[in-house]
Amino acid sequence: MTADVLPAQEHMGLAASWGAHDSEPFPVVLAEGEGAWVRDVTGRRYLDFHGGYSALNFGHRHPALVAAAKAQLDRLTLSTRAFHNDQYGPFCRELAELTGTETVLPSNSGGEAVDTAVKIARKWAYQVGHVPEGTAEVVVAAANFHGRTLSIVSFSTNPAHRAGFGPFTPGFRTVPFGDIDALRSTVTGATAAVCLEPVQGEAGVIVPPKGYLAEVRQLCDDTGTLLIADEVQSGLARTGETLALDHEGVRADLTTLGKSLSGGLLPLSAVIGRADVLGVITPGDHGSTFGGNPLACAVGRAVVRLLATGEFQERSRELGAHLHARLRELDGVTEVRGRGLWAGVQLTEERSAGKRITERLAERGLLCKESRGHLRVAPPLVVTREEIDRGVGIIADVLA
Ligand SMILES: *Cc1c(COP(=O)(O)O)cnc(C)c1O
Repeated sequence: MTADVLPAQEHMGLAASWGAHDSEPFPVVLAEGEGAWVRDVTGRRYLDFHGGYSALNFGHRHPALVAAAKAQLDRLTLSTRAFHNDQYGPFCRELAELTGTETVLPSNSGGEAVDTAVKIARKWAYQVGHVPEGTAEVVVAAANFHGRTLSIVSFSTNPAHRAGFGPFTPGFRTVPFGDIDALRSTVTGATAAVCLEPVQGEAGVIVPPKGYLAEVRQLCDDTGTLLIADEVQSGLARTGETLALDHEGVRADLTTLGKSLSGGLLPLSAVIGRADVLGVITPGDHGSTFGGNPLACAVGRAVVRLLATGEFQERSRELGAHLHARLRELDGVTEVRGRGLWAGVQLTEERSAGKRITERLAERGLLCKESRGHLRVAPPLVVTREEIDRGVGIIADVLA
């Protein structure tokens, strides 16, 4: 056990008394993590099949990332964009080269990156697309999750994310995900962009019908509309490719990244994409005190080096196929969705009722997230085949 000896109940009590009730954390108090494993304050170990909502693709405290952070902590942590720093430029170049894009705009959270992409698309529509100022629309998919800023919840279709927060930002239209005809009849001359998750994460790991994303790309090309891919969760090897759109051979005009861009060490996100589109942003238009800070950029550079080897993409592909095959064999499972080491495991109604499945999994040493009748499985990509079998074995026991 570590230095902080407060028992778990006291930690949960402090959180309830002094922390805002923005979340309903699972009743386990984590204290340490390494690779695909975490330990709570009582010393119990758990296999982590949650993976920080895919912010922990490289596992807890990947040694190369921790080393990069420690080295940078001893050099410089913040310059702000009032001055250059010696990590920003190399980070932008290396991330652009990894992803085959031209320009990088770093920020902090995933929501901030999505919000920024929408701002850029609107400005581009006015400057380049000749849309009358103040009228641009962005078309989004139903059941999307793009974050929690006020503008982002303005185009959420989840009532819980919106209730009590209006008035909302106008200029968004919603279509069903995966329905190209609905999109065709909604994109007009006023549309600045179509903004989608290539795989809808929070909705339950929904992969769209084959060919849909290529058709979206074609529609955007035909109508002079930008395609914004929100790859905050699907990107950075989670699905078995660097970007989920790589599976389709489709390129977005703007892509948002976050979560694993800093390997779970600190907040780091980015909008990446076409130089001419990001080029509508000029000095004074937009900014962030911590965006592009040298500490985050140094860690981001170490993440890019890990991804450049292709090892994590390959692990996700190979181990993902194994994970999906094992999950499909389980009793009480109606569907296994997803790609790579990422699965939405739909349970029969009977299995998802009663004592929370996640509690029974945790009792046996597995952490996992359940929502609306499905289990979300997204272990760190450092997980081994044996650990996958162990985790799936625990799920099998609990479902039996
Ligand atoms: C998590 C997530 C976000 C929001 O990221 P935050 O860092 O929580 O703001 C945006 N888009 C997608 C697809 C996500 O999964």
